[in-house]
Amino acid sequence: MSESERKKSIQSIKGTKDILPDEVWMWQKLEEIAGNLFERYGYRQIRTPVFEATELFEKGTGETSDIVTKEMYSFRDKGGRDITLRPEYTPSVVRSIIEHRLHLRTPPLRFYYFGPMFRYDKPQKGRYRQFHQIDVEVFNEKDAAIDAELVEMAQQLLIRLGVKDIHILVNSVGCTACRPSYHQHLRKSADQARENLCKDCRRKIDTNPLRLFDCKEESCRKISEGFPLITDHLCQECRDHFLAFCAYLDELSISYLVESRLVRGLDYYTKTTFEFTSGALGAQDAILGGGRYDDMMKQFGGPDICGTGFAVGIERLLSAASLEENKREWLYIATLGAEARIMGMKLARELRAEGWECLIEYRERSLNKQLGRAHKLGAGRVVLIGDEEVRSGRVQLKNMSSGQQTDVSVLGLAEALNVSD
Ligand code: AMP
Repeated sequence: MSESERKKSIQSIKGTKDILPDEVWMWQKLEEIAGNLFERYGYRQIRTPVFEATELFEKGTGETSDIVTKEMYSFRDKGGRDITLRPEYTPSVVRSIIEHRLHLRTPPLRFYYFGPMFRYDKPQKGRYRQFHQIDVEVFNEKDAAIDAELVEMAQQLLIRLGVKDIHILVNSVGCTACRPSYHQHLRKSADQARENLCKDCRRKIDTNPLRLFDCKEESCRKISEGFPLITDHLCQECRDHFLAFCAYLDELSISYLVESRLVRGLDYYTKTTFEFTSGALGAQDAILGGGRYDDMMKQFGGPDICGTGFAVGIERLLSAASLEENKREWLYIATLGAEARIMGMKLARELRAEGWECLIEYRERSLNKQLGRAHKLGAGRVVLIGDEEVRSGRVQLKNMSSGQQTDVSVLGLAEALNVSD
């Protein structure tokens, strides 16, 4: 196909990516490492639908968040329902707990999840419109120790995946008791600088002043350095929680930096927030983010149960990770002629039942050409079957690295394969 013809054919949607067969092993390995780790901490996997009622995210993620105001993939389905492809996971888990009354079951309420998320953001390296997250959530655990354990588990995950140069930023964003008065201080200060702030920040003064710290404009960032900090305005309960969280991190010998301007992009956080960055990534260096959300369940009409958790972007994680592909040993079965093919098919069925990975290619090729294919594809050993083998009930077993070829009876093949030569 010529380049111009290729361009005319249907392409993937901007901001989405195919995960091709030679990359899939990394995704599988990552999920295996992460799942094993989380299960050791008492987490269990949960899976919820990719789309939900739009209202869920408006209520949960927050009506003033960038995600809800600018980035949702929302549509009306044929039944007239307002639907959104989930931009994040937490509201879905909260909905699921309420719907299935999971909080009435035996605790702990600790869940993890892997899956795609959708945000209509500007695509660039490390930022996609369909991307994938590992998500971890804990419910009904108030103590700051669980926030610290989550940070520890997240750190362990990155270490196990070989991510280098990890920085942990922590903060407290207060609660409904202390945030309103802090907002007043912040609004007052931002109002004085209103004329020099960008249009977006001017809007945030009225809608969600905490988000002023999120602005990417250099001039706004400079101005926000002079704004009052939430950590100086926490109520006693939030201050105690934050001090306890930091003390647990110290006890666990986890290095972190208190970043009082860390607000994160979601509206629902209360008390603890944290973010992990990696120097191994480029401009999009935020690899993992999380925090506490004590009011969401109640706001959704569920029980008054607190929540805390984190989300990691899998694409960013993989680009910073250093993973090694497991070596796989597999067999190529080369056959010549119709009867040999049938014998090969039957043999392959038996070997596969024993756990062997076997490949037969159903094309008319000489045995030599098939050996060439086996070499090119990286088979460890080749089973050769021609007319003579059909007659004698024996096959030739060729070791592709040593070149050694042995004559083996069909009945003894499984045993011969288990002897690595
Ligand atoms: P958030 O849900 O916004 O707290 O993001 C949690 C993590 O998801 C981030 O630290 C990133 O690793 C990842 N992430 C968020 N948005 C994107 C995106 N558009 N493309 C790729 N990864 C993303």
